[in-house]
Parts: sequence; C-alpha cells; structure tokens
Amino acid sequence: MSAPVTFDNSYARLPSRLYSRCDPVAVAAPGPIRVNTALAELLGIDPRWLASPEGTAVVAGNVIPPGAEPIATVYAGHQFGSYNPQLGDGRAVLLGEVLGRDGLRYDVQLKGSGPTPYSRGGDGRAPLGAVLREYLVSEAMFAMGLPTTRALAAVTTGEQVARETFVPGAVLARVARSHIRIGTFQFFAARQDAEALQLLVEHTLARHYPEALDADNRPLALLQRVIGAQAQLVARWQLLGFIHGVMNTDNMLLSGETIDYGPCAFMDDFDPARVLSSIDHGGRYAYRNQPGIAHWNLAALAQALLPLLHPDQERAVALAQQAVDAFPGQFQEAYHTGMAAKLGLGQWRQDDGALVEELLELMAREHSDFTLCFRHLADLANPAGAQPVTELFDLPPALEPWLQRWRQRLATETTPSEQRQLAMYRANPVFIPRNHLVEEALQAAVEGGDFAPFHALLEVLVEPFSYRGELRRFATPPRPEQVVHQTFCGT
Ligand code: AMP
Ligand code: MG
Repeated sequence: MSAPVTFDNSYARLPSRLYSRCDPVAVAAPGPIRVNTALAELLGIDPRWLASPEGTAVVAGNVIPPGAEPIATVYAGHQFGSYNPQLGDGRAVLLGEVLGRDGLRYDVQLKGSGPTPYSRGGDGRAPLGAVLREYLVSEAMFAMGLPTTRALAAVTTGEQVARETFVPGAVLARVARSHIRIGTFQFFAARQDAEALQLLVEHTLARHYPEALDADNRPLALLQRVIGAQAQLVARWQLLGFIHGVMNTDNMLLSGETIDYGPCAFMDDFDPARVLSSIDHGGRYAYRNQPGIAHWNLAALAQALLPLLHPDQERAVALAQQAVDAFPGQFQEAYHTGMAAKLGLGQWRQDDGALVEELLELMAREHSDFTLCFRHLADLANPAGAQPVTELFDLPPALEPWLQRWRQRLATETTPSEQRQLAMYRANPVFIPRNHLVEEALQAAVEGGDFAPFHALLEVLVEPFSYRGELRRFATPPRPEQVVHQTFCGT
C-alpha cells in the first residue's frame, strides 16, 4: 500500500531539546465524525481514505502512518500575565508536516491524543464538545478569510473523559502553517539557549517569511514580520466582533494564524467591555483589550529575541523597542482599512474616525447586534439590490442621525452603489458561529449523540457572506433566554 500521507518533518529535524518524541495513546473505539474534504485534498490526502476505518484509526492515534514522526513540542508562556516556564503540547502531538498542493508547508497535529511529557498531571484528552467547537469556529474563521488553524478531521474515541462530569472524548486533527508560538521562543530565552533561539529564527523565517531570509538582521526581520502579521490578525478579530478569550503568549503563533479556540466567542450585541470566558475573571482579554494584549505579547517576543538582536544590549533594546512601537500604528491602519470596507468607503479619511466611533457608541448604547448592524448597512447601501436582513433585524431608530452622516459621506464616493453593496456584503458576514447555535450543536452531539445540528451549522458557516432566507434561523440573534453568558475552555 502506498503511504496515505506524504510527510516531511522539518521540526523533528531540529535538535531534540525542542520537543519530545511521543506517540499518541490509542483509544478504545475510534468513530468518524467528519472529514474536511477540501482541506484533505489541499494536503494531498485522499478524503475517502481519511473517512475510512484506516483513516479514522490514524486520526484517533491508534495507527501511526508511515512517515509520521510524532512529537510533542515544548514551550513556555505568559498565562493571564504570569510567566509559566514549563508548558508544551500536553494534550496534542504533531504527527508530522505535509507539503500542500499550494506549495506551503502544514503541520498535522492530533489534539486530544493522550498524555505527553508536558501534560503536567492532565489527562491529555479532549472532550467532544471542545473538539466540535474548535472545528466549527476555526472553519468559520477560514471561510471569513482570516488566517487560522483549521480542522482536517474529527473522531470520537469511544472513551469518556472526566471533567465536571464524564463526557465523551474526541480527537481533532488540526492543521496549521506551524505551531511555533511566542511561548516557544520564551522557553529557550529563559534558559539562555541562544543556539536554540537562532535555529528557531531560521526555521520560522524559512517557513513563514522566506523573503526576510536575506535581511541583515534576521531576528529583527522576524520580529517585524510577526508584529505586522499579528496587527493584521487582531484588527480582523476586532472587525468581526471576535473575542479570542485566552490570549496567552503560548496561544499566539509566529505565523499570524488564530489558534486555540477555547473559550472564544463572537459577540451578539455590541459591548466593547464584553468578556465571555469563564476563566477570565479580571477581564484581561475583553474585546476592547485585545489589541493592547497583542502588543504586550509581542513585547514578550521581542524580549525573548533580545540576545539575538544586537551584541550590545542597549542597541538590542533600542531595536526591540522600535519594532514593538510600530504595532499600534500598524494595527490602526489595518483596522481603519477594514472599517472603511465594512462601511462601504473606498478609502479611509482622517475624519472617518469620528464616524466609526459614533456608530460603535450608538451600537453599544442600543445593544445592537454587531454582525447584523453592519450587514444591514450593506442592505441600505443599495436598497434595490438588497438581500435584506431586515426580516430579522431593524436598526435602532437612534441611529437615524448617524445614518444621515454616513449617507453624506457615501455621497463623496465615486463607486456605483451596486458595486459598493457587493463589496460591503463581502466585508460583513451574515452567518457567524453564534454562541447559542454552537452550544445547541454541541449539546445535541454530547448529550444525545446527534451530530446532525453540528453538520448543518458547519455547512451554513462555510458560506458566511451570502444570505439565504431559508437559513434565517442561523443568522438570527439569540432570544433573551438563548443568550450564552459564559463560554468554557473545555480542556
Ligand atoms: P491552553 O490554555 O488550552 O492553551 O492550554 C495551556 C496548557 O495546558 C498547554 O500546555 C496544554 O497542553 C495544557 N493542557 C490543557 N488541557 C490539558 C489536558 N487535558 N491534559 C494535559 N494538558 C493539558
Ligand atoms: Mg494553547
């Protein structure tokens, strides 16, 4: 039999102190949940094989395919602001890397695959609910065009895992451009292992920013690239009302992809101070804090890279500071460009800031649904061509004076209104993974073994920008009794 997956494991070729060799631990009775056909094809994996009992056994960790070299990577990280010197893949193994048909390299990781040397007393397992949540939200993010880790396949284990109660276990095959985190660099910086840091710089540049391999100062070039990528990413989160929920430095990737869909959530009604995570007691990772936290995390990366930036410490600090100081401006620029697109403005102008601020203030005061409010502006941009969400949603009357100002602003634009509307529809999704729908899908699967709501929701979410009236249930904000007030990490 030819190998079902062709691996090329570059991280496993790095010195062995960057990881531990660690096989997944077999489970009792693997059962298929879902296979991501398009992603499998991108990776050159036959989706029919992946969905077969053999493929299911591989995702469950019961069979290690030829060419895989399972490892658990080591990292550290600031968790809610406190430094933890020893983290690592405690419930995941990197099966190996695959070169995609797009010429890019991808990690294939099994999450929930059993204990590793970094489990710190944890069971290494993942509850079914957490796996389904990550599948839904990461694929929704991908469909909305955000850089993100993805879901290749999910399987049940036939085992129960002990959380507050016993719940069914599952494994997610997660795909990322890499799993190299700020915390990976922090781990080796804390050990003053300059050689490992240097190797990580080379490796990360080659994988994600190969054009910067020519730079005179490669560590600085890497830092600058990561700052740019994270500024773009976090701006996109803000523009969608996405709250990551656990922006620890071990949950921020050098690739600039969103990772770790734990207690994450999309806001329904807009509140800049919104916190949904049950473990975020101080509100550190509230919606409005996300850009500031990203900035803080990037300063931690700069700190870790300091010994490589310049032999003279003062010079090194100055270079790091300069790089990190660029973040707010880059974030603002990405945010403004994105806001201009959401509002149908061809270009951001200086005084558009006031227009946006006023809108957001009104939305917060009126408890307006973030997603539908913007989507409705797209309807209004060209009433003749609308696929209106008005059947679900009305703008609060208090927005009327603001709408006047917005229309005046639009009148200074030259784009024809049909074209503007189409562009606004592409910038303002109508189907997002609403918390109450996600909960409903998870509950049906976990409590009733019914995966139909999960599959149905996923199929809606992969096409987030085009409104289909028959699917209005999936676009409708929660009724008061459906509102989810807290999300859980689900580890
Ligand atoms: P997270 O905050 O979810 O990114 O996880 C933080 C750390 O805890 C990581 O090092 C994880 O590998 C580890 N961890 C989380 N859940 C488990 C578990 N069930 N068993 C072992 N390690 C875990
Ligand atoms: Mg994590």
